Amino acid sequence: VERAEEYRKKHRVAVKGLCPPPLDSFTSAETCLGKDLIEAMYDQGYDAPTPIQAQAWPVAAQGQDLVAIAETGSGKTCAYLLPAMARIAKWGPKKTIHQGAGKDDRPPAQPYALVMAPTRELVQQICVEALKFAEGSVRAMGIYGGVPKGPQVSELKSGIDLLVATPGRLRDFMTGDPKKGAAPVVIVEAVSYVVLDEADRMLDMGFEPEIRWIVGQCPAGGDCQDVVKGSARQTLFFTATWPKDVRKSALFFTRSAVQIQVGQGVG
Ligand code: ADP
Ligand code: MG
Repeated sequence: VERAEEYRKKHRVAVKGLCPPPLDSFTSAETCLGKDLIEAMYDQGYDAPTPIQAQAWPVAAQGQDLVAIAETGSGKTCAYLLPAMARIAKWGPKKTIHQGAGKDDRPPAQPYALVMAPTRELVQQICVEALKFAEGSVRAMGIYGGVPKGPQVSELKSGIDLLVATPGRLRDFMTGDPKKGAAPVVIVEAVSYVVLDEADRMLDMGFEPEIRWIVGQCPAGGDCQDVVKGSARQTLFFTATWPKDVRKSALFFTRSAVQIQVGQGVG
């Protein structure tokens, strides 16, 4: 406990709620993330978890909801991606490539983990990061607007574990196109890990109605045991700023969340 407090003071980390101690080295994070993911962090040339990773990893791995407030460049992407990868790897990723009679006969994508981000560029960056750690075992892909849907539909239907998406394009894929008789191509009923990345920017851009609708189709929030089994939803809310409207939104999407704040205004 003393050591945890020392670490938090040194790295300007403030926590609220039932928060496990930080994993201040890659060695100490191996139990919750597994050897392969830690090896991949070393392969990137990193020496140690950043403070947000050290605190977010044990919370996420336990299945608890999380609200994380940390400035840009603090390593938030790996903070939420690695626990998702670890869980999917444990369950066994979707290996089968479904072959239908025609390509549109294939069933919709049913990801286990969903990351929402405000822009195409961010979705692409998150995917690049995800692919560094997926090593072919976890299938990750990004969807976003401003490009034709066809290639994204085709990739979705090949089987996806982790989906990174802008809210608008995801909503379109979840509703399908009733006028053209097109069925949904993404179903979120198996999603037990939801990340709202740059949540403050998504709110600013007016995405809250879409996000509420999408999260409403995911399983309801639940206890850690159900989350880890995959039958309840865990929600991780990441933001760089913490004004009142963002706080309200964090409360809406999460359930008994642990709060971690790093840097600015702490300590
Ligand atoms: P944020 O989302 O908080 O703005 P990113 O996840 O984009 O931050 O990470 C910022 C940079 O830090 C990226 O270049 C990333 O590769 C790098 N990074 C991530 N984790 C570590 C780490 N443990 N040690 C050093 N650098 C890291
Ligand atoms: Mg980021």
